Amino acid sequence: MEMIDYMKQTDQYVLHTYNRFPVVFERGKGIRLYDTNGKEYLDFMAGIAVFALGYGNEIYNAALKDQIDKIIHTSNLYYNIPMAEAAQKLAEASGMSKVFFTNSGTEAIEGAIKVARKYAWLKDGSTDHEIIAMNHSFHGRSLGALSVTGNAYYQEPFKPLIGGIRFADFNNLDSVKEQITHKTCAIILETIQGEGGIYPAEEEFLKGVRVLCDEKDILLILDEIQCGMGRSGYMFAWQKYGVKTDVLTCAKALGCGVPVGAFVLNEKIAEQSLVPGDHGTTYGGNPLACRAVSTVFDLFASEDIVAHVQETAPYLEKKLDELVDEYDFISARRGKGFIQGLVIEGRKIGKIVGKCLEKGLVVISAGTNVLRFLPPLIIREADIDEMIEKLREALK
Ligand SMILES: *Cc1c(COP(=O)(O)O)cnc(C)c1O
Repeated sequence: MEMIDYMKQTDQYVLHTYNRFPVVFERGKGIRLYDTNGKEYLDFMAGIAVFALGYGNEIYNAALKDQIDKIIHTSNLYYNIPMAEAAQKLAEASGMSKVFFTNSGTEAIEGAIKVARKYAWLKDGSTDHEIIAMNHSFHGRSLGALSVTGNAYYQEPFKPLIGGIRFADFNNLDSVKEQITHKTCAIILETIQGEGGIYPAEEEFLKGVRVLCDEKDILLILDEIQCGMGRSGYMFAWQKYGVKTDVLTCAKALGCGVPVGAFVLNEKIAEQSLVPGDHGTTYGGNPLACRAVSTVFDLFASEDIVAHVQETAPYLEKKLDELVDEYDFISARRGKGFIQGLVIEGRKIGKIVGKCLEKGLVVISAGTNVLRFLPPLIIREADIDEMIEKLREALK
């Protein structure tokens, strides 16, 4: 079949919730993707921050094949080896205490919300606790995660959402303070806002939020589903700020392609929140997904991925800054490490993304006017040069 036939088949049978670009990717190798015509693309979005190690890593693939032959699923009624190993590695990498594995980022957010409410309920028994979330945030599409997603367009048709959510402005500590009441049980934010347009939390803001949380025994939930797993140049972006979180949510690159997420709790919260009967999942933490997670952490260590991001990111930043200087319709660069955005003025962002695809470069947008770069974490300076070259062609 031709590419157009697969597109028609998809459009006939798959519910139309995405306006897809007209490409059918068939395979990937390293940092390159190939469509069904064999056309090659340089990938600077990594399946939305998922394929941190690139495509077809031999060690990763061999581990998954081995696990498929052993066992894929057992349920959470029994122990399994990969879950034990993956949980230890995630806990150690984050400096936190207890892990709950989910199937997606959205489910990790759901779990985090339940943790916060349970923690507060155990303290005072009341059932009207509030959570403060940020404007322009993104935490997922299920009703709980959507309720803390600061985007009216996403929320409106699905109201009523869950109650007790208040919104504050990101990087504005006073606006967070204004929303705090005696009912507040948690503050949730992305350490670097992704979908909203690549806004890193300012150090003073994050430290200030931490102090507020400590003063009032409010849980800090940091959503690192997109910016975590080495992307910022730190295993988790909050580690740069010298603050600690109470709850961490993680997904996307956690399994590098196998669907898996997690919420991770510090010791105090782990001991005063969910107990048997409170939460569950059939698939979550299954041996296949956890073997992926475990192997990802091994590869991050053996290939020194986080150090590589730290070393290489300044070059990406420099090259993107040159574009800001050069093009009058590119007004700014924002980001940290390998989560970067260029702010585009007066041009349709979707059109630019489409042009990049034509030129063999895969990037995505964020917010309404940001060109977003989420490359595999293994890219080298030469790959950045190639990306810039293709981007220039697309911007012509
Ligand atoms: C992608 C994303 C989510 C949702 O994760 P899914 O795996 O798509 O459910 C939540 N929060 C952030 C910051 C994300 O980038």
